[in-house]
Amino acid sequence: MSRPAQDRQWVSQAVRQIRADARRSADTHLIRIPLPAPHTVTVYLKDESTHPTGSLKHRLARSLFLYGLCNGQIGPDTTIVEASSGSTAISEAYFARMLGLDFVAVMAATTSPAKIALIEREGGRCHLVTDPHQVYSEAERIAAERAGVYLDQFSHAERATDWRGNNNIAESIFDQLAEEEHPVPAWVVVGAGTGGTSATIGRYVRYQALPTRVCVVDPESSAFLPHWAGIDNAATRPSRIEGIGRARPEPSFLPEVVDEMIAVPDAASIAAMQLLKERTGIDAGPSTGTNLAGVLQLACQLSAGWEQASIVSLVCDNGERYTNTYGDPEWLTANGLDPAPHTDRLARAWGQASWSS
Ligand SMILES: *Cc1c(COP(=O)(O)O)cnc(C)c1O
Repeated sequence: MSRPAQDRQWVSQAVRQIRADARRSADTHLIRIPLPAPHTVTVYLKDESTHPTGSLKHRLARSLFLYGLCNGQIGPDTTIVEASSGSTAISEAYFARMLGLDFVAVMAATTSPAKIALIEREGGRCHLVTDPHQVYSEAERIAAERAGVYLDQFSHAERATDWRGNNNIAESIFDQLAEEEHPVPAWVVVGAGTGGTSATIGRYVRYQALPTRVCVVDPESSAFLPHWAGIDNAATRPSRIEGIGRARPEPSFLPEVVDEMIAVPDAASIAAMQLLKERTGIDAGPSTGTNLAGVLQLACQLSAGWEQASIVSLVCDNGERYTNTYGDPEWLTANGLDPAPHTDRLARAWGQASWSS
């Protein structure tokens, strides 16, 4: 028995469409943010909010579709299924529609209506489950029932992305830094949701034999930091910082390529998100705040030793996605998030290079 030739033709066409989409898209900006003296550090933020689907998950979705297509798993009648807290599903719905495929996102019932609306606008269907731990098994079940494919970002993010290069996020960052004063950053600071971004960057710096270290910032109640530290300790509640922090150490998180981890209090992520907007005008989501909190801590350490250096991090998505949640003081209060105790501390870290935890 042989597989139908028209399927192969469809796959070729599908791959071509995804490549054409990438070719039409410009690379994301690497924004330079010099910190004031006595800092000796320049910060760069790679603005992943400018992808067509608004977050760093655009890269992941593209990679997962190409992975499924080139593995022969996705054909013209395949239903695409994913377990997602939102952003990945938005990006995957976009690619599914581009290829004319049905898409089902399996999400926690607590997912914001704004995200559900974005997925539906891209033609996706949302399947909500009350117990967030059930998203994986539900996604598997729906995929099996519909002879579809469960893309499984949490398992496949690290391998679907070509970590050696091929214009992945790491290659793009280092290329954009080439003419800067410190083109090899002391640190790259990222959060972990799937762990895919930290895995790609961690592998890339080893492959390129660069001394750059990778720091992963982790929100409260995440299983990543304990796992990295060798402690097995499942989280008791879901992360409050959308996109990062997981109740289980996801298979795509590779602790061996992470040099440092910093625990960031959730309210500090919000305070840092607000500080970034105030100082630079960049309106970013809460996980970008987590990144900035880690960046400021490392910048203060380097500056204390008069080390001239650069630090790179990401704008993961835009604050517009969160105007009714993290951007709303009433919502923050209702969710027990008070940024005030962290605001002065982070402002001192930014303005005076002085860190107090
Ligand atoms: C997914 C995500 C992250 C973390 O990226 P991973 O590569 O999955 O670890 C950070 N911020 C946001 C908003 C995300 O959606």
